Amino acid sequence: MSLFKLRLFSVNILILLSNVLAAQDYFQQKTDYTIYAKLNDKKLSLDCYEEIIYKNNSKDTLYEIWMHLWPNAYRNNNSSLVKQQVEDGNLDLYFAEQSERGYIDSLQWRVDGKIAEFMFKEIDFGKLKLNDPLLPGKSLSITTPFYVKIPNAKFSRLGHDGQAFYISQWYPKPAVYDKYGWHAMPYLDQGEFYSEFGDYNVTIELPKNYVIGATGVLKNSEEYEWMTAKADETKAMTSFPKIMSFPPSDTTFKKLTWTQDNVHDFAWFADKRFHVMKGEVELPHTKKKVTTWSMFTNDKAVWWLNGVKYINQALYYYSLWNGDYLYEHCTAVDGVISAGVGMEYPMITICGGETDSLMLDATIAHEVGHNWFYGMLASNEREHPWMDEGMNSFNEMRYMMTLYPDSVYGNKNELMLAGDRFNRMFKIDNLDYKEAWQLEHNLLARTQKDQPIEGHSTQYDQLNYGATVYRKTGIAFQYLKDYLGDSLFDACMQNYFNNWKLKHPQPEDVAASFRSVSGKSLDWFFDDVINSNKKIDYKISSIKNKNDIYTIGIKNKGEVNGPFKIQGLKGEEVITSVMSEGGLNSGKLNIRCVGCTTFEIDHFHNIPEVNRKNNRIRTSGVFRKAEPLSVHMLPHFESVMHTNINVFPSIGWNNYNKWMAGVTIYDKFIPFKPFEYALTGLYGFGDRGFAGLGSLTYNIYNRTGIFENISITAKAKRFAYFKNDIRVDRFELTKESFHYNRLEQAIEFSVRNKNKRSPLKDNFGFSVIETFVEETEIKDVMILNDSTSYNITGIGNFGYHTFRAFYQHRNTRVLDPYSYRLQFEGNEDYGKLSATVKFRFNYKNSRKGVEGRLFGGTFLYNEDKAPVQYPWSLSAWDGQRDYWFDELYFGRSEFEGIASQQMSLNDGGFKTDVPYARVTTWLTALNIKAALPGSLPIKLFLDIGTFKDAKSHIEIYNDNILYDGGVCVSLAPDVFEVYIPFFFSKGLKNYIDDQDIKFGERIRFIINLNAMNPLNLRNQIIK
Ligand SMILES: [Zn+2]
Repeated sequence: MSLFKLRLFSVNILILLSNVLAAQDYFQQKTDYTIYAKLNDKKLSLDCYEEIIYKNNSKDTLYEIWMHLWPNAYRNNNSSLVKQQVEDGNLDLYFAEQSERGYIDSLQWRVDGKIAEFMFKEIDFGKLKLNDPLLPGKSLSITTPFYVKIPNAKFSRLGHDGQAFYISQWYPKPAVYDKYGWHAMPYLDQGEFYSEFGDYNVTIELPKNYVIGATGVLKNSEEYEWMTAKADETKAMTSFPKIMSFPPSDTTFKKLTWTQDNVHDFAWFADKRFHVMKGEVELPHTKKKVTTWSMFTNDKAVWWLNGVKYINQALYYYSLWNGDYLYEHCTAVDGVISAGVGMEYPMITICGGETDSLMLDATIAHEVGHNWFYGMLASNEREHPWMDEGMNSFNEMRYMMTLYPDSVYGNKNELMLAGDRFNRMFKIDNLDYKEAWQLEHNLLARTQKDQPIEGHSTQYDQLNYGATVYRKTGIAFQYLKDYLGDSLFDACMQNYFNNWKLKHPQPEDVAASFRSVSGKSLDWFFDDVINSNKKIDYKISSIKNKNDIYTIGIKNKGEVNGPFKIQGLKGEEVITSVMSEGGLNSGKLNIRCVGCTTFEIDHFHNIPEVNRKNNRIRTSGVFRKAEPLSVHMLPHFESVMHTNINVFPSIGWNNYNKWMAGVTIYDKFIPFKPFEYALTGLYGFGDRGFAGLGSLTYNIYNRTGIFENISITAKAKRFAYFKNDIRVDRFELTKESFHYNRLEQAIEFSVRNKNKRSPLKDNFGFSVIETFVEETEIKDVMILNDSTSYNITGIGNFGYHTFRAFYQHRNTRVLDPYSYRLQFEGNEDYGKLSATVKFRFNYKNSRKGVEGRLFGGTFLYNEDKAPVQYPWSLSAWDGQRDYWFDELYFGRSEFEGIASQQMSLNDGGFKTDVPYARVTTWLTALNIKAALPGSLPIKLFLDIGTFKDAKSHIEIYNDNILYDGGVCVSLAPDVFEVYIPFFFSKGLKNYIDDQDIKFGERIRFIINLNAMNPLNLRNQIIK
């Protein structure tokens, strides 16, 4: 006990010391702006002039000032913004017309009146060289005119949508200079900002009938009265027309001025169609009154009528929990925002993209809330996005759970895989806010794809930026609040706010406030939950009862030694709750409880736990840890209360089993589990026999190490495939049928790529495939006018096995992607080696391009006897060539008819069926597909290839190089495609003429039944 106290004491001293040191070191530059801007709403541009008074409060002499010119992010494809968007698969700006782009120019820099030189580092930032050094404590004046061409708002944040103007990140602006130096940065979608505080005086000139919302306080009383009158007008409106067109602009202009001290940015939004609402809210601590405004168009007016109420609520609760709002006004406007559903600026926010009023409330709360986490607490958003987006998301969640305690998340369409119907269908409509966010976190955490909360914004992949930076930080602070209790937690937050408002806090400053006010080290929180992606998983391992004192065995299966609560339940009613301070790997807790039927760790789901299935135990019964089975048709998200089994009716068809019906039993959904299965059992009405397929997979996901994922799979498949009807005489029918049983055991390794945004993926694997073919001959004796009897006359079985190994490298970038794959296949009779390279060259300014597949294969050894069992095939495979039964075919052993025209792109990949080209040496081929311009899914294709002794292989056809080509209808590349060949090399043409193969019979198609299996779809979504 005393040791514990001593430790706390020393922690406090250290924190105190570091606070004092930090406070001594701390400095902050000041940037005061006077800006004039004139809007040209026909040319979609701004003519501007600005003066910045830059004060150097550091101890350093400055020789240059780094400046941002962010409208240039839209100028051409060299900007970091475009590069990031292309990485994320968004090609809108990359392919944009010049007229839709934006830029800044006409700059003429002067420092203290003298012309100064500007040197670009990237297209949207650079340094202004000072003619004379700027000494500590001194100021200088930077002036320049500038012209902004406003880009289309569909690209990012700055923009216009017709004559609606969303003007942000629009003027030349110094980067922050702090104890770490300059923080110059390009403009990005993913990765926000860092700016110096200062005093703003901004004058905007524009046609008279525009309604404007802006940072700061409007200084023109006439305009203020006009706005107030507009608010009265809107209040009196009972309905809103559906009109969204723009009225003509007034020919007279107005010149309006806003001023504001102590903000670090200035944004403004102008729309002639805006309705205005005005309100007021009293802040909880200072009782100061804030005037609030909402501005919106007819489109979402019904929801926005409550806009002012939402702003007021947000200002009130954020003030209550964190400290009072410091400004006089707060505005939210409705508009187009392409980088998310809302965007924050000091004292003003823009919201768009919400799909109902509850989501508008949450969005307004979040964006207004940024006045704390970004606005007043101006952290470096680019380097530590959790400090603004994450801590703000926590407050958003707290706000929503406070105002709508009974509401569930399913009411709100924000979940990543959104949609009300989706939520209901898969039973996630009963999750509350924090549970939904934990699910989002677990989608990544279960597969170790989550990144730590602390990280640079440009290092996150798109999924992690949402699920980790926003959501996991939110639940992490919920966890901390649940541990500290509301009042201590609020005291910590308010300490942080009071110490750091109107400053630039760093991550250690958040930690210092929480540590000093709570008197706890909180290392588990700041080191493990924030700074790492260590997983949390507490488990109840055992329970014993003696006179209502329960001894509960606890095991920490996770990597975080954090605190947790354990609740004693009677039914689902909590009757006792005990806190464990953590620091325990395994141990026992004694809890007194009368009438408890169940104990559960974290019953209220405040902890970002990766596995809740081991959190509960019953106080009596045989299987105390097992949950009752719950059987569904559609997949359900994992539940703590039940063990889900999903049973779905299944049907199928092929030419031998004919129609098949049965069920699929599976437990394979999201979040991913280590052990998963899907088993489909079918009865074939054609062969009157059983068919089916299934897989069992065990996945090992590693947080560190070379292999991100190792998966061990056992797959089985059984179908009929060959059948002859032989009429012996009038009364007797003989049926010959085959069934194949295919078993595959595979192990696959995915190599970790430390760069989560990298499109490069490597994996390799090994598998053993065994097939057993059953041959059945049935004599079906039909006797007229009598009953039918069956007589099985012969059954033969034969089996084969092979081994495979592959290595695959993929570059999945959206432009010019490529991949290659090396594969060995063989057994004691044969060994084959092949390489397949796939690529696409995009056409200039197009999502379309030329796709290619280059294949080369050779035998390493071959004891194979005639008839050849394992040849290379020049043609893409059909069912007959698929000697290891890899794929699913409608007509595996058909020679003719439409079922024989299904193929899969293996080996030479020729679309023309060339049965003679069964190659026992080497073969190489190139398959090209070129997309045609226009919106139709039509491509031209060409296959060209050769193999050893191609010419003499069958002399009559006489081709050294073979080729064919034609038209392809490509609805889903390599999944659903139809190929119509038109031209052929001489030998192929001779063959087609000889065999009299009709035009319709030359058409072949791909239906990849494996890829179309809905159970495999989730792997497409969460890669
Ligand atoms: Zn945000």
